Amino acid sequence: MTEHGAASQSTPQANIGVVGLAVMGSNLARNLASREGNTVAVYNRSPERTDTLMSEHGDAGFIASKTIEEFAASLSTPRTAIIMVQAGRGTDAVIDQLADLFEEGDIIVDGGNANFQDTRRREAALRERGLNFVGAGISGGEEGALKGPSIMPGGSKEAYATLGPILSSIAAVAEGEPCVTHVGSDGAGHFVKMIHNGIEYADMQLIAESYDLLRRVGGHDPAAIAEVFDEWNKGELESYLIEITAEVLRQKDAKTGGSLVDSIVDEAGSKGTGVWTVQNSVGLGVPVGGIAEAVFARAVSSKPAQREAVQKTLQGRPDIQEAGDGFEDDVQKALYASKIVAYAQGFDAIIAGAEEYDWDIDKGAIAKIWRGGCIIRAQFLNRIVDAYEKDASIATLLEDDYFAAAVREGEDAWRRIVAKAALSGIPVPGFASALSYYDSLASTRLPASLIQGQRDFFGAHTYKRVDEEGVFHTLWSGDRSEIETEPSTH
Ligand code: NAP
Repeated sequence: MTEHGAASQSTPQANIGVVGLAVMGSNLARNLASREGNTVAVYNRSPERTDTLMSEHGDAGFIASKTIEEFAASLSTPRTAIIMVQAGRGTDAVIDQLADLFEEGDIIVDGGNANFQDTRRREAALRERGLNFVGAGISGGEEGALKGPSIMPGGSKEAYATLGPILSSIAAVAEGEPCVTHVGSDGAGHFVKMIHNGIEYADMQLIAESYDLLRRVGGHDPAAIAEVFDEWNKGELESYLIEITAEVLRQKDAKTGGSLVDSIVDEAGSKGTGVWTVQNSVGLGVPVGGIAEAVFARAVSSKPAQREAVQKTLQGRPDIQEAGDGFEDDVQKALYASKIVAYAQGFDAIIAGAEEYDWDIDKGAIAKIWRGGCIIRAQFLNRIVDAYEKDASIATLLEDDYFAAAVREGEDAWRRIVAKAALSGIPVPGFASALSYYDSLASTRLPASLIQGQRDFFGAHTYKRVDEEGVFHTLWSGDRSEIETEPSTH
């Protein structure tokens, strides 16, 4: 035994190990150790973090190691280690070290926030060496890691046979089911975690727009708006994000005595997963306007020089419109309809990713594992589960009976809110883009016909006709007659 009590190399005892003992890793290790049947090996590059974990939670029965060699030797086979280190180079460094020590059939799990393309690359490289590599999206922050996160593992089915029961033991439980499923092969888990984060951006933006309207049009103060969100949290909008919104709005600022939200600089930060979602979805040809507008709204908020420059040019602002009867109800309906659109778009991105990368993703199972442990956990996800259980081949969630009816029911309110916001000079990019997306799908004819005409005019890109098979081009610089032609390849 080492001074931490690590097993000697001849007595591997741990069924699972954690590398990286910062906030996420140490909480995940404690969660693992608290579940029956798990013996947890732990290792961190700097021994201080290991020492801290052992001194504060030594009774958890960890097997701690000072070197990565000792760590690998303390694991029973197939060796299974979860890496929780800084994403990027830190992850690559630890993978390289473990890959040199692990043997065929062993399992390396990356539980960090990796880009799914990195996960695909790492999985392919380790597969060549006979090792299993699993990219597992873990949502829920530090509290989730400790008490039960939502876990989105990719990688091979063989690896999941060993890993599944271990992850199930620590995952959040929603309606009796652990919030973990084998998402699909190689990078599928990190892809779905990326989309989860993108949806989270959209959800937060829509809630923020609701708050802004309730404040500026509704005339309520933050504490009163907290009450409104509390009410909403008892109905179809019930979710973690609505719940914490009320908490944040109710918080007083000890320094000023006012509401904390009024003391916080209005420039939203981000860690980049929203941008990844938009980049990848656009690359896959999926319109994720709700997520994109949320990412853009954070970016606009963080451009103080541009905001000030425009504010200087103003001669006045539009008058804020009267809230009128039923305003809160209208905002609630607009929020719900916009949220449905954002989730529909997120699931479209999952479907497109699955097609592109050949992942067999069960959409209903994804909605299920987001019901607990993660930031977007919500009652509403049950409706998505129902929709895909009824018919997994629907073209969009908006086609499902429940969602179609919900949007129809909220439609008038949604239009009133977007119009009122525009007339009052209040930005609602999330609400407005969701409504435009819905109206685009709902329009029997779109001006895309004109765009095809323009494209044919300047680039001979050709077009199809509504009344005839084939591909056509108008001789714009000639006599403007129409010819049948080959599809444009440029
Ligand atoms: P972190 O601050 O992202 O990373 C610190 C950890 O990484 C330390 O253990 C550090 O070891 C280790 N590390 C960095 N470079 C290394 C290298 N080259 N070789 C070995 N170890 C290295 O930690 P975290 O906040 O706990 O997050 C861990 C992972 O979970 C990240 O990928 C993060 O994106 C993801 N995640 C975080 C959250 C969250 O709420 N924080 C939520 C979900 C997912 P030393 O102690 O030796 O420096």
